[in-house]
Amino acid sequence: MHIRLENLSFAYKSLGSPSTPVLRNINLEITAGELVGIAGPSGSGKSTLMQHFTGLLKPDAGRVLIDGRDLWAPRISFSEIRRRIGLVFQFPETQLFEETVFDDVAFGLRNLQLSADDLSKRVQEALRRVGLDFDSFRGRSPIYLSEGEKRRAALAGVLVMNPETLVLDEPTAGLDRHGVLAVSQILRDYHAAGKTVAIISHQLDLIFSLVERVVLMKDGAIHFDDSARELLRQPHLLEAAGLALPRVFVILQQLQQHGVDDVKLSAMLKRFIKA
Ligand code: ADP
Ligand code: MG
Repeated sequence: MHIRLENLSFAYKSLGSPSTPVLRNINLEITAGELVGIAGPSGSGKSTLMQHFTGLLKPDAGRVLIDGRDLWAPRISFSEIRRRIGLVFQFPETQLFEETVFDDVAFGLRNLQLSADDLSKRVQEALRRVGLDFDSFRGRSPIYLSEGEKRRAALAGVLVMNPETLVLDEPTAGLDRHGVLAVSQILRDYHAAGKTVAIISHQLDLIFSLVERVVLMKDGAIHFDDSARELLRQPHLLEAAGLALPRVFVILQQLQQHGVDDVKLSAMLKRFIKA
């Protein structure tokens, strides 16, 4: 699947006060099979951008093209688009509303006319992928899960539909180190299976460990769209965006100042950064 945003601008409408644009003339293309990171500080418009991919928000100007077709043209099926593009929201509560974890994960599957047995198997497999034990979690209420468990359950509810494109908004927020590694591996595996994956995060450590291409947002505009390696050559862009440099990059800079030679540094960089 191919997603293309063309000269897209958007402002939230509020009564009375003039609305300032939150997205300004965005041009972005995500091609099939890509693994791309969308980075940017809090408030730069990342979550707003994501909601344009499936028509949850409508641009004031510009177009969203899915496989070349304008998402807002007549007779486009939003439900089909939403089956093909799975969004995992920044706040898992937005995605969890059933009484049990089982029903939440099964929610989208219920439209697929599966046998009870097949449905249960798919839910079981999705929970296994996110590291939640089926027997202990199936009957629990999502309300009483920990932050990290909620995030995993919400992820399971999207993975279970096996979307062609997976877009995740701050997927590791609220997870401990073990959880971050587990989710990172799930995303690598999903991409390795031929899917398109876009990861939105203000945490460069995560972005740099996973992706080759980074889109950097600031004040509702795209300030950089190129390889992670190229972005590391321009650390002033990250500083201007108010983002903490990836930890591994800071350590390597310090080693360089202490005279470790470039060949060794470059080998280390390769080991820690996907680029
Ligand atoms: P990010 O995900 O990068 O933190 P957001 O897309 O959430 O950025 O927010 C971008 C800007 O839009 C911020 O200034 C935020 O306050 C504003 N904003 C976000 N959601 C809404 C909303 N529902 N109504 C009005 N303003 C919003
Ligand atoms: Mg956000």
